[in-house]
Amino acid sequence: MNLTFTALRFANVQRNKEWDPEGKIPASFRALELAGEVGELCNIIKKLVRESLGLKGSRATFLQLAQELGDAQICLDLLAMQYSVDLGEATRAAFNDKSRELGWETEIIGPGRSFAICNICATKDMCTQEEHCGIFGE
Ligand SMILES: [Mg+2]
Repeated sequence: MNLTFTALRFANVQRNKEWDPEGKIPASFRALELAGEVGELCNIIKKLVRESLGLKGSRATFLQLAQELGDAQICLDLLAMQYSVDLGEATRAAFNDKSRELGWETEIIGPGRSFAICNICATKDMCTQEEHCGIFGE
């Protein structure tokens, strides 16, 4: 399955409504959540590297690595959601900026820069409802 940034955002928005219906979670919590998951990811990588070096210690699997990469990606999108950042567009822009800076030809094609995405319905092209973000479709 080819998961898109948009599909992940939609799922994160929907699940967040279940978990935090009053919208109490601050950006600082999202940042800590992301840091925690990146820490878990690094711990798995540490164990894989340790094993590759033939050193004693507990082991990890590539399945665990994949799970922690997924956790980190989810939390990165949750943090982006907190700031209404379209993570797909932000990623595309950052990738292309770095390519241009270093003179590389590889770029991610797309519609261009539009960093905001509605935190209520997770769309950016059709959201015209004032009770949502109200930043699109005007
Ligand atoms: Mg985790």
